[in-house]
Amino acid sequence: MSEKYEIMIAAAQELASKCKACKFCTVDCSFLRENGMPNVIAQGVMDGTIDPALAMECSLCGLCTQVCTVRGLDPYALFQAMRDVAVEANPALLAPYKVLLNYEKLGLSKSFSFFGVPEGATTLLFPGCNMPGARSDTVWDCFLKLREADPKLGLVLHCCAKPSKMLGKIEEHEERMASVVERIAATGVSEVLVMCPNCLVTLRSAKPPFAVRTVYEVLAERIPEPEPGMERIRTGVHDPCVLRAERKVHEAVRTILWNTGSSVAEMKHSMHKALCCGEGGGVKFVKPEYADAWRELRQSEASERRVVTYCAGCARQLGPEINAVHVLDLALGREAAPVSEWPGSSKSYLARTLLKRKARAFFRKQG
Ligand code: SF4
Ligand code: SF4
Repeated sequence: MSEKYEIMIAAAQELASKCKACKFCTVDCSFLRENGMPNVIAQGVMDGTIDPALAMECSLCGLCTQVCTVRGLDPYALFQAMRDVAVEANPALLAPYKVLLNYEKLGLSKSFSFFGVPEGATTLLFPGCNMPGARSDTVWDCFLKLREADPKLGLVLHCCAKPSKMLGKIEEHEERMASVVERIAATGVSEVLVMCPNCLVTLRSAKPPFAVRTVYEVLAERIPEPEPGMERIRTGVHDPCVLRAERKVHEAVRTILWNTGSSVAEMKHSMHKALCCGEGGGVKFVKPEYADAWRELRQSEASERRVVTYCAGCARQLGPEINAVHVLDLALGREAAPVSEWPGSSKSYLARTLLKRKARAFFRKQG
């Protein structure tokens, strides 16, 4: 029996014995509505009537764990463990995710990665893959803005290898994370600022010898409060589900919004009860109707509000139906371009190439 199998069975036993079958977690989740409550799935895993590969259809969004009425019970842990077992037993399960895995591979490659860290730097900006492709000018503006206060700020363009983690390729993910963390640690910086929620979670999970926080927390402290009487836009915030527990980030984003002319009208699912955008777990590649269901739920909650998010991946997944804008554009006083105006897939790779060139030329000039 592999270690992963043992972890899965332990998670299944816990759920099967402690779940009260209250159905609370099934209310918003299409996966659970179709396949049964977590205790039913857990029992099926234990008696061998449910294939662990079923979890490839779960978004790994963690909402079930968040709303669970039994303190400490963690259905999400079972679904991640099921994926890990399924992929280990049958790597062919990864065939539908080729685009996603290729995206990670390119983000880690020499073509798209870049390290510009001046001697004596204490902090560096780590924008991830999505933002440099979607909002490359915004990323550059942000770098220059932060550099006004910290002339030795570094810049690292690199992937955090989140896709391999959610797709059950844990060993590869850990190896890749260890390599990037080691490289960053060797620069001697004490803090890394991220733009992408997934980068925050994955970098922190590697227990790095430096602090990791978001640029939103930094920018929220620097944007002055507006004049009274400012005309405001009614806005809903789509908090990325991976940052459900990050209260400081939720507050920072809302401070930026208030100071830049929004009035936040919270949606039913926000902050600690954040909804998946549909991108989670790469579900759209195997069960697009579940991904669509998350987006439709978000759309109905947003109603007439403008939707702002702080994850470029979420914004893209929410699509033209919701047409979210990114909070970083607002924080930097840029035009709040909705996602329908962002570069498409092939143009986003071009944007990343040009950003890397610009960064390389900048650091060369700095010596
Ligand atoms: S999709 Fe989210 S809420 Fe549904 S089972 Fe998976 S982790 Fe839980
Ligand atoms: S909310 Fe918790 S206790 Fe209720 S059905 Fe879901 S897993 Fe079981």
